[in-house]
Amino acid sequence: MATVDSYREKTFSCPQCGWTGLGKDCVRRELFRDLFEIDCPGCGDKIELISLPLVSEILNTARRLGELDPSGTALFPYNSPSEGAGRFLYDPEQLPNIFEEFIVLTWDCDGQQPKANIFIKHGSRIIWREPCSDKGWERFKEIGEILKEKYGSRLKDLIPTTKAEIDFFGNSRALSSAFAQYRESFKK
Ligand SMILES: [Zn+2]
Repeated sequence: MATVDSYREKTFSCPQCGWTGLGKDCVRRELFRDLFEIDCPGCGDKIELISLPLVSEILNTARRLGELDPSGTALFPYNSPSEGAGRFLYDPEQLPNIFEEFIVLTWDCDGQQPKANIFIKHGSRIIWREPCSDKGWERFKEIGEILKEKYGSRLKDLIPTTKAEIDFFGNSRALSSAFAQYRESFKK
């Protein structure tokens, strides 16, 4: 599979109508967050799939270039609000790989009310960002389950920052204890 870095100057031929030309002259069609298709400018038939760099590679590059601001807002060029379902985590495959035996993640938010973002971080690296939903604590569990699916038993905890915790519970002790109980499920 050609990559986003190399496809533009690569020559392709259309299996349908025989058009031959450069990747940059093909029609680009978005498929998923990590993949797009290039189509023949002549007949519109599919020519090839092009993979975007992994989210982790994007982050590493951004960090190297010093483009990463402390709040992490300069991230995820493919996670823009216009992308519909892509805004929210629903599939473990949206997450980057983490090659560590024990994984502890934190749940943070940027606190810009009313439309704040939540961030899932591995150390200082942001592995996921999405808009805060009205589901609050329910969303924590949903994301927790997707994280479990992705990282399995290597995932040992998902810890909310103090800021995020205030966001979730306010002063509700009942909620706070239900939450502590859920976090125990990571330790099994
Ligand atoms: Zn064609």
